[in-house]
Amino acid sequence: MTLRLIALALGLALPLAAQPTVAPRVDDDAARRLFARAEVVAAVDALKAREAAILDDQVAISEIPAPPIKEATRAEAVRQRFVAAGLSDVRLDAIGNVLGVRRGKAARPHVVISAHLDTVFPVGTDVRVTRSGAVLKGPGIGDDARGLAVLNAIAGALSRSPIQTAGTVTFAATVGEEGLGDIRGARHLVDTELAGTIDAFVSIDGVGLDVTNVGVGSRRYKVTFAGPGGHSYGAFGTANPIHALGRAVAAVSDLSVPASPRTTFNVGRIGGGTSVNAIPFEAWFEVDLRSVDAAALAALDARFKAIVDHAVAAENARWSRPGQVSATLTIVGDRPAGSTPESAAIVRAARAATQAVGERATLHDGSTDANAAMQRGIPAITIDGGGSGTGAHALDERFDSTDSWKGTVRAFLLTLLLAGA
Ligand SMILES: [Zn+2]
Repeated sequence: MTLRLIALALGLALPLAAQPTVAPRVDDDAARRLFARAEVVAAVDALKAREAAILDDQVAISEIPAPPIKEATRAEAVRQRFVAAGLSDVRLDAIGNVLGVRRGKAARPHVVISAHLDTVFPVGTDVRVTRSGAVLKGPGIGDDARGLAVLNAIAGALSRSPIQTAGTVTFAATVGEEGLGDIRGARHLVDTELAGTIDAFVSIDGVGLDVTNVGVGSRRYKVTFAGPGGHSYGAFGTANPIHALGRAVAAVSDLSVPASPRTTFNVGRIGGGTSVNAIPFEAWFEVDLRSVDAAALAALDARFKAIVDHAVAAENARWSRPGQVSATLTIVGDRPAGSTPESAAIVRAARAATQAVGERATLHDGSTDANAAMQRGIPAITIDGGGSGTGAHALDERFDSTDSWKGTVRAFLLTLLLAGA
């Protein structure tokens, strides 16, 4: 019998995965029993007592610049922390992710807990952190220095604790989560480095105590229209790239998309031309297409491409002078859509762990490293790292550490539940 058939026979809800996953079994009673065990209580108390040191680590990490595609210095700092935490097989993979392992009794279930190394801030940004009371201020202090500090903390807590987990946990600090990074680090983990072995994937990203179980997919294009150009009066009758662009943007703005699954479009930037009295030889725009559903995103993508083709054909048909307009599409962003159902064990485990720290988790959609795992049918969520804050992706980002221990402890308990303890 295959794993899936065994699971079906036992009435376990396995996700529709491209690979068989060993779904962690979670029910509220099991969670309560686990959280009441003496060695778990001791580990949680120790972790709670370390929160001030964890915040110091968060500041130290945040002050190591990690611009897009330049995460290596911060990666090395995390690598050293993984070694100090006592993880085994600490390594950098081919794309620059940092990995470390805490072995359980068996290789499976295999749980991956991650946070991202990169920030949105360019080289030269002043990343110093200032503190006033419980508030830490600095670019990237929450997103995702918080996630990395929690990751280091629970790796250390698990190493120091005598708790034996059934399955194995891989801790991963990923490159390329933000913007044009297109979650390349998480994709590499899922598709190459750990391909076919992941049973649950958790990303720690953002502040608060909520859970993201729906991954918004996006496709972004730069569309460039080109033509022969010419004098506005003398060459009148020549197909015009800006006119073709206008036709395309008008058709995009008239697109109808479903409200559910939520699907959106936006033309966000536009440019081209050289002079008011010249037929331009080039014009371009950038468009952002999104959906929480992969099929809806693919359908929108197909309609968008047809619009561009049609706009070019209509502009060329309009004029008789020789010389035609053409369009080139360049993908400037591509994130897969996916979701983990509310009823999935990983979501129930996250809720139980949140309850254990006296809070309730609200479910959200978002675009995070978890998208990469969701796309492959792996049970995946993103959890906030605790505390609260404002200004993610802004220079005046703030992290309020009031009760931030709840984020650390929740991530630790979730890891135990998923690995089976
Ligand atoms: Zn982030």
